[in-house]
Amino acid sequence: MPDLHLASRNAKKIAEMERILAEHVPGVRVLGLDDVDDYPEPVEDAPTFEGNALLKARAGAAATGLPTIADDSGLCVDALNGMPGVLSARWSGPPKDDARNNRLLLDQLADVPDERRTAHFTCAIAVVRPDGREHVVEGRMPGTVIREVRGDGGFGYDVLFVADARPGVTTAELDRAEKDAISHRGLALRALAPDLPGLLA
Ligand code: IMP
Repeated sequence: MPDLHLASRNAKKIAEMERILAEHVPGVRVLGLDDVDDYPEPVEDAPTFEGNALLKARAGAAATGLPTIADDSGLCVDALNGMPGVLSARWSGPPKDDARNNRLLLDQLADVPDERRTAHFTCAIAVVRPDGREHVVEGRMPGTVIREVRGDGGFGYDVLFVADARPGVTTAELDRAEKDAISHRGLALRALAPDLPGLLA
């Protein structure tokens, strides 16, 4: 089974991908950016999650000669016309600060009534082979944005998000396996996993 390169330095993301993909591709080894020769990482300036995942995966495959996987994700709030979307990480400006992003989101939604606080997380995952073959999948987790932060697990906007699949708790109050089972990232990874042996062949 060839190695798969993941265009990320996030150790948790690398471990999570390896855990979920290994269920379908036993022995798959996911190498992060720190395991391959240094290369210039592209600016994530595409207007869609799919576009950003593809540009990262293309750059990784071209630089390393390995099949490369990359993801892009974020929160899309209906009352904000789908924002913060691809701008989720730095919604309140650089440097990235989850608490500041959450305060800004709460301020922006202060006058929005409960029934219009619907949102979803999206995750796009792209796999690009060195021969140019490309494959993209997407996962979504619908839910609502609540009015005060709750919970101390997860990351990013989890403290403000209640998933439709788990009413009554924020995704920051779910344990890792519970969140994996319903999350945009878990869904996208599980959608990709059956296609992976063919992509790595
Ligand atoms: P990235 O795709 O890892 O760059 O994530 C983009 C941003 O979207 C993160 O910094 C978070 O603000 C937000 N985000 C993505 N996935 C999640 C999630 O599962 N929970 C909370 N926030 C998330």
